[in-house]
Amino acid sequence: MALIVHKYGGTSMGSTERIRNVAKRVAKWARAGHQMVVVPSAMSGETNRLLGLAKELASGTPNDEHNRELDMLASTGEQASSALLAIALQSEGLQAVSYAGWQVQVKTDSAFTKARIERIDDERVRADLDAGKVVVITGFQGVDDAGNITTLGRGGSDTSAVAIAAAMKANECLIYTDVDGVYTTDPRVEPDARRLATVSFEEMLEMASLGSKVLQIRSVEFAGKYKVPLRVLSSFTPWDIDINEEAKSGTLITFEEDENMEQAVVSGIAFNRDEAKISVLGVPDKPGIAYHILGAVADANIEVDVIIQNLSKDGRTDFSFTVHRNDYARAVDLLKAKVLPTLGAADIVGDTKICKVSIVGIGMRSHVGVASKMFRVLSEEGINIQMISTSEIKTSVVIDEKYMELAVRALHKAFDLDQPAA
Ligand code: ASP
Ligand code: MG
Repeated sequence: MALIVHKYGGTSMGSTERIRNVAKRVAKWARAGHQMVVVPSAMSGETNRLLGLAKELASGTPNDEHNRELDMLASTGEQASSALLAIALQSEGLQAVSYAGWQVQVKTDSAFTKARIERIDDERVRADLDAGKVVVITGFQGVDDAGNITTLGRGGSDTSAVAIAAAMKANECLIYTDVDGVYTTDPRVEPDARRLATVSFEEMLEMASLGSKVLQIRSVEFAGKYKVPLRVLSSFTPWDIDINEEAKSGTLITFEEDENMEQAVVSGIAFNRDEAKISVLGVPDKPGIAYHILGAVADANIEVDVIIQNLSKDGRTDFSFTVHRNDYARAVDLLKAKVLPTLGAADIVGDTKICKVSIVGIGMRSHVGVASKMFRVLSEEGINIQMISTSEIKTSVVIDEKYMELAVRALHKAFDLDQPAA
């Protein structure tokens, strides 16, 4: 008998018929003798629908003042889907009970709309499991010390499930979703993308941070910190497929590097179109310049990603960095108002039509020439590289957005990612 956590995404919970299928699948696992905790998302579209209503009434975009109420609101989506799933489980002949985050409790800080889980009191859940019940716990939400309902940010149900699995020392956390695992790249861009049977936790973390949307990044961080065995798999296989087959399907996120690792140097290609580039031109090349520019940006709570500073000429240099596109206008305005006059820079220019393409692989640690191969492939396609950033296990380039698909496909092929792993 094992303790298993299942998480079902919004699409998997998208209709009563689908919820019934989830219940049948969970019942299969329970009848196989496992203790089951299930963490559902809201039914697909529900969170957007609720936040859309708020937007209508907030006279414009909701601001920080509304955040507490946004959490109060958005958390209802998961409350509804959890209750529905418990009812469906009861109809399957199981004993089931659902809890909202504040009932468990899932304790978080008070950062509404992006709260972080601090601890989970699992006593009540354990008692129910020991009494033979399936326990359904809302994803996405918790409660702060003052008793306010909080939510964990979009996609946060992944993090709820992994945190609950960590707190309860579950044997495995299975994330059921509308894709059947983690792919070498997005199959919508490269049809020859392959599902990875395993991917290392570090690679998964890089991929999530670089734009792969399979798992919320915080859930991967949690899994890493507490070594939670984590698997991403499809909720669209027939619910009655053999449980042993199901238990081996999808992609397993692993913590041991050598065991069963696919021996590829590069495991995946990630990309995102969410960033914009800002260049501060003709800044004096002297100590304190990076701090002057990026300090002002950081003070405005704007996150900076790739940064480059050019060689200086006649004591002046250009300084470029990327920010999220949503923060672009604010960052440019701020720099024009605060930095341009005091710094004596010549101008501030920007480009929103960029994308970042990255190759990821723990094999890069022990192989030389991986980045240069990436640059060669891009040059052969005539793609200009605007910025480069590297870490131990990834190389990212910023290029013109219109070459994104071409770059992804060319790199996917060049690193043999379309070939079955040896
Ligand atoms: N329902 C929430 C969202 O749409 C949380 C989740 O689905 O993970 O972001
Ligand atoms: Mg999700």
